[in-house]
Amino acid sequence: MAGVQQAPAAARREREQRGARLELIGLTKVYGDVVAADQVTLDIAPGEFITLLGPSGSGKTTTLMMVAGFVLPTAGQILVNGEDIAFQPPHKRNIGMVFQNYALFPHMTVAENIAFPLKMRKWSREQIRQAVREVLQLVRLPGFEERFPRQLSGGQQQRVALARALVFRPPVLLMDEPLGALDKKLREEMQLEIKHIQESTNTTTIYVTHDQEEALTMSDRIAVMNGGRIEQVGTPRELYEQPVSQFVADFIGESNFLSGRVEPGDGRFFLVTPEGWRVSIPVSDSVQPGDQVSVALRPERIVIGDGSGDNVVEGTIEEIIYVGEATKFRVRLEHGSWLTVKQPSRLETMRWRRGDRVRLSWGTADAVIVRDGSGESA
Ligand code: ADP
Repeated sequence: MAGVQQAPAAARREREQRGARLELIGLTKVYGDVVAADQVTLDIAPGEFITLLGPSGSGKTTTLMMVAGFVLPTAGQILVNGEDIAFQPPHKRNIGMVFQNYALFPHMTVAENIAFPLKMRKWSREQIRQAVREVLQLVRLPGFEERFPRQLSGGQQQRVALARALVFRPPVLLMDEPLGALDKKLREEMQLEIKHIQESTNTTTIYVTHDQEEALTMSDRIAVMNGGRIEQVGTPRELYEQPVSQFVADFIGESNFLSGRVEPGDGRFFLVTPEGWRVSIPVSDSVQPGDQVSVALRPERIVIGDGSGDNVVEGTIEEIIYVGEATKFRVRLEHGSWLTVKQPSRLETMRWRRGDRVRLSWGTADAVIVRDGSGESA
């Protein structure tokens, strides 16, 4: 990829030095009786890309603004390489920021926009010229120095905003919904591009979004937020495969949920629903016979038409939703409950019709034990 033109050794040294370790410890913000951020604790490795993901009002922006310095914490610490910056003013923190509405200065050229943070830092004219040229290569806009923001597309403007945030080589970069104003196709391109730039500069990054696909695509780890608290932190794969709560299983991807009481049998565990349906579930130290638990079952893990699997049920297809690469089926089971099934749109999948009676099957390990919706431990 187009990177800053440097001797390899110098580039490597810069990469290694750039990213800071960032620790948020018990970070809390209270507004009247609203706890906007509640004991947020995260240990972010140098160069790591971490995303705060959650619905509107879950505390993502408040958390980010505390790191940026625009919101003072009610309690907690923010350590950058071990130094607490929680009460330093924003301009002293040396943090790069890109926000959806953090617009470029319209009356300044691209070069002047990018030079702005360097002038504030009293860099020399020659240093500024060199840095602007390098960072424009990094964001793949070489030669755009003299353009004005209005002469750029939305994607190009966001690249300039990113260039302005990175030009002073901050050890930490914060981004709040930076792609929110772009259309889907461009968003997807920019997601990868931002990720590559972040990797090539090794800048420790906190990214905020409510878009789960964006979070899965870009992040090393994701912190899922709900009601001001972090529900779960993990790699995209961990969150998708092993969600700890119904909230996480539902927010990241789609899930079926089954609830019932745990019963032992044949050295295995079964979940027995109130309707009397027995479903085999993984044996786990966290559950015991008699416990009331919920399991999440991903729609794509259920197979239609195949009678083999640890669990087999029959039902009637009530609804078929074709979404292009996949087809979703809402299947009503004999005892009145429902399962959503998702299959790749292949010829054999396409032959199913509404009203067809089908067999559904899945493996024991496909059911993941989760905390239920109340947020309490099962
Ligand atoms: P998100 O970024 O996830 O949408 P926010 O951090 O913006 O969430 O908000 C979290 C909660 O804090 C919300 O209930 C919001 O209404 C409240 N909140 C945020 N900022 C303020 C403020 N300045 N004054 C009062 N309440 C606020």
